[in-house]
Amino acid sequence: MATAVKTRKDSYRALLLKKRDELLASIKAEPEALSASLRTPDEVEFAVKCAEQDLYAQTADLRSQTLREVESALKRVSVGSYGVCESCGEEISPARLKAIPWARYCVTCQEMRSRN
Ligand SMILES: [Zn+2]
Repeated sequence: MATAVKTRKDSYRALLLKKRDELLASIKAEPEALSASLRTPDEVEFAVKCAEQDLYAQTADLRSQTLREVESALKRVSVGSYGVCESCGEEISPARLKAIPWARYCVTCQEMRSRN
């Protein structure tokens, strides 16, 4: 039983580490792609590119936010509190953790929080 739990946690950790690598890679790759696309002399093009840049910035925000969530989930894996809802203390369902490995709350608490 203990081994099964450990194996499951290891697979979540692997998922989280993979996600973290992906996020780090895309965060690093972005500024170059951005400055290259801004080197457009045309005014209309420039406006379009600026709008795109806003979008990039929003995506980047979302990415660094997710990255923080992923890192805090990794911390929870190492202290052993991973997979437990931070609000009600119930176990978060494996299906939910598979979809969102960095989930802090169970489905019920998450729904309550997003309603407020
Ligand atoms: Zn809960």
